[in-house]
Amino acid sequence: MSTTIAVIPGDGIGPEIMEATLRVLEALQLGFSYDFVDAGLAAQQKTGELLPQATLDAIARHRVALKSPLTTPVGEGFSSINVQLRRQFDLYANVRPAISFPNTRSRFPENVDLITVRENTEGAYAGEGQQVSEDGATATLVQKITRRGSERIVRYAFDLARREGRKKVTVVHKANILKSTSGLFLKVAREVAAQYPEIQCNEMIVDNTCMQLVMRPEQFDVIVTTNLFGDIISDLCAGLVGGLGLAPGANIGADAAIFEAVHGSAPDIAGKGIANPCALLLGAAQMLDHLGRAAEAARLRTAIRDTLAARDRVTPDLGGTGTTQSFADALISRL
Ligand code: NAD
Repeated sequence: MSTTIAVIPGDGIGPEIMEATLRVLEALQLGFSYDFVDAGLAAQQKTGELLPQATLDAIARHRVALKSPLTTPVGEGFSSINVQLRRQFDLYANVRPAISFPNTRSRFPENVDLITVRENTEGAYAGEGQQVSEDGATATLVQKITRRGSERIVRYAFDLARREGRKKVTVVHKANILKSTSGLFLKVAREVAAQYPEIQCNEMIVDNTCMQLVMRPEQFDVIVTTNLFGDIISDLCAGLVGGLGLAPGANIGADAAIFEAVHGSAPDIAGKGIANPCALLLGAAQMLDHLGRAAEAARLRTAIRDTLAARDRVTPDLGGTGTTQSFADALISRL
């Protein structure tokens, strides 16, 4: 049976980078079909709803979605569509690769190839644990960590390492101070790690991790951590390898997975045809790995690396004079 992907073209630069990405995927001759559905402003214009039921149904049916950025309307009462999707499908793993590429603004043009696996549903961001006292003078946050939540995220990280032939998982925590919450996460992580004897398990305190990442990022392979630490570390890693234009991410659950660029809809350059499509393309490469098409994912990443190395038709954010579509043409010529 052929694979069908739910495709959300998004708004702002979304449709432009999605067109380029799908052209590159076509050139890989994957045999996929695409089911185009809307979310966000594009959906609101057509149906009056920001997240139509038909879009949710398509993601549930196909189980895999490729999504361009969505503008979050400013104002009361709009919860981010991304947050809604995460809740709806219980997308517990936020998976963010950071790979060195040549000719970017990175201080590390080679040797970084790491993946941050962030727990996406509990910890400090679960929401329900925040309170302000009646006099407004004290705000408190209850952080919830569960055995179930910790186990499934750590298992995801070790399974990913095994699937991709990666050698080491670093469990990032703060159990020396947050003894009960981070302590439970670490305890469960040790139990899970024991079931993967072929993969080295490292433990590292979060503050040291940040320093190590900035000084010697090449020592990391897979990082797994709780929600708040993962949010910060994954952006730090995006900065290490050259910023938003090269940062993809996936939100993965047991029943659905959504692949995307980390950046937003970039209203300042929307419609100009100069957006860098690489982050969404790297999200598509993650999707290919997820679908068991590792060889094609590797071809795609190599084409991106070679195109950047040659500075062939790259977009202005990378110092070139190319367009979104000329960049895609340059990539296709190297597949
Ligand atoms: P942004 O990421 O859209 O843009 C920040 C800066 O980076 C801008 O100068 C932009 O031009 C540049 N940039 C981003 N992507 C680029 C690309 N592919 N090529 C070249 N330059 C690029 O962040 P923002 O302006 O804070 O957010 C705009 C909107 O996007 C907001 O409504 C925000 O809520 C939304 N957003 C959506 C997502 C998502 O859907 N996953 C993520 C982040 C922000």
